[in-house]
Amino acid sequence: MITLVIHGGAGNITPAMMTKEMEAEYDAGLKAALDAGYDILKGGGTSTDAVVAAIVELENNPIFNAGRGSVFTKKGLHEMDAMIMNGKDLSAGAVSGVRNIKNPIKLAREVMLHSGHVFLSGSGAGEFALSRGIEQAKDDYFFNKQRYEQWVKIRDSDFTQLDHEGDNLKGGTAPNTDYKFGTVGAVAFDTEGNLAAGTSTGGMTNKRFGRIGDSPVVGSGTYANNNTCAISCTGHGEFFLRAVVAHDVSCLMEYKGLSLHEACNIVVKDKLVKMGGEGGLIGVDKYGNHEFCMNSAGMYRGMRNSEGREEIAYYGQ
Ligand code: ASP
Repeated sequence: MITLVIHGGAGNITPAMMTKEMEAEYDAGLKAALDAGYDILKGGGTSTDAVVAAIVELENNPIFNAGRGSVFTKKGLHEMDAMIMNGKDLSAGAVSGVRNIKNPIKLAREVMLHSGHVFLSGSGAGEFALSRGIEQAKDDYFFNKQRYEQWVKIRDSDFTQLDHEGDNLKGGTAPNTDYKFGTVGAVAFDTEGNLAAGTSTGGMTNKRFGRIGDSPVVGSGTYANNNTCAISCTGHGEFFLRAVVAHDVSCLMEYKGLSLHEACNIVVKDKLVKMGGEGGLIGVDKYGNHEFCMNSAGMYRGMRNSEGREEIAYYGQ
């Protein structure tokens, strides 16, 4: 059994806000990511490589809030977070607040494999990227008209905004905004039975003070452990951080013997809801079973496995 599961962000995704053209764009973007990752698994490649390949595809697509399509910070910059984790040996690599890196997930993998550390931030992560020959991109590569307009509407306020929240700003009432969706993630189960998880994001529009979300934090937005599952989250990071979501799912499986489905439901649809944390996650367990779970209206998501199952969906369950 091999399985690949991906997401392109959770939030207020409803049929009313999607057009046929948007659906076609997201279909194509998610399918390209599934193709890229699944080809690696099919060829006997590792779950880690499959996760990176799928995420690179999503990072290169400006419709998602990661890599090229990352949202703007308060200062009008793009500061990205990413993380990868290998369930075989619990090795992990993460970066936060990185700028001008074309594919932050590749830098995260480089941190995991070659830095001797787990988590690098800001300028130090940038220095490490240069030393490892990681591909850079100029500011204009990350410019995106829609994201720019989204930011312009709130840049003079103290609001921050998840790019999939629309009018629901943090800290007050929002102006009307067009918005897109999009932190990205992937989890995979390979022919050797190894699990891996990765997540990449531009974070929240108008974020400042070096704000870091859950995505690059081990056990919060991303976690993989061959004994249990691989998880990648998307949603309001402040809640996912405090709820240690990805590791909590793994713990419920490891210590309570729950299935992936049961564990995800408890964490996302009960614990997070009680805290007020909106979002969702994707997961795969040590048998290759997959899970999509959300408490938001929708989540861009897709999966493919060696039993011939394939799915791409957006709206809530
Ligand atoms: N969880 C991400 C963050 O808070 C955002 C998202 O998933 O859209 O940075």
